[in-house]
This record gives sequence, structure tokens and C-alpha cells, in this order.
Amino acid sequence: MGRESKNTRTKKDASQGRSKEPRPNVSLSNLGKRTFGDTVKEFLDAAKKAGLNVAVFEAERSAERQRWLHAQRLSKPDGVKERSSHQFGTAVDIVFKDQKNEFSFSADHDWKKLGELGESFGLVWGGRWKPPVVSHFQQDPFQIFLVDLHHNRFDAVASCGGCSQCSS
Ligand SMILES: [Zn+2]
Repeated sequence: MGRESKNTRTKKDASQGRSKEPRPNVSLSNLGKRTFGDTVKEFLDAAKKAGLNVAVFEAERSAERQRWLHAQRLSKPDGVKERSSHQFGTAVDIVFKDQKNEFSFSADHDWKKLGELGESFGLVWGGRWKPPVVSHFQQDPFQIFLVDLHHNRFDAVASCGGCSQCSS
């Protein structure tokens, strides 16, 4: 009796838990070619799927524009002695669109949802900084590495501590 029910359960688990296995990719041509831009595109797609009406406000930034922003006291790095991660092409600002399809930095938007979604892609979110910069996301190669390991369930690696997957 006991053995029978165990067998029944095993069969049931197997039929429920094991869906058709997607084929492993054996091509070497894309190894090591994943870029920050690829990650940001995936993040934007996911944001749209999650119902967040957002778009890229600014990506890579010239030294000239960084100097101008610094002069307006809109950005801390002066663009020369201290550079913004935007100048290295490793940061992106993502901002909500309002009903007129114009960029909106209003606090009414769900910046936390956007930020946590970005973090789930291994991005560093400026919303955690003091003072917070809620529209800013930047690449952190070390964090991307850790989050990737963690989300692939290599349990020896600690939680990234930031993303929605890790904090739940
Ligand atoms: Zn930024």
C-alpha cells in the first residue's frame, strides 16, 4: 500500500515538474559577447511587459555634456578629473513617460518596481544611493557575475541582497 502510493506520487511529480527540455545551445560564437546594451534591452522589454511605460532618457555621454551638467550642478563628476559612468558607456538613465508621451520624473511613478526589476538583471540601481538617483542604472561586472551565479542556484554564492528574487 505504502509503496504503491509512493510510486503514484513519483509518477505524478515526474509528469508535472518535467516539461519538455529546451535544447542546449552548443554554439561557441556568442560566448563572451554579451554586452551591457544586451542587458539593458532585456531589462526594457521586461519593464514594458510589467506595464511600466519607460524609455531611455540618456545612455553614453560626451565629456562636453558631462562638463555642462556639472556646471549646472546637475551631476557631481566634472567630466575630466572625475568621470561619470555614462562617459564610459556603462550607465543608462531610464525614465517614465507621461500621458503626453513626455519624460516624467514624478515621484508618483513606481520607481521601486523599475529599480528592483533592473537589479534582477544584475544592474546597480541609483535609487539605493544617498541621495537617490532613481532613473540611473549602471553596470557592475562583479555584481552581474554574482547575481548570475546566484540565480543559477550555485548555493555557495551569497544572495545579491538587492534584487526582488533575492530579497523575497
Ligand atoms: Zn545616470
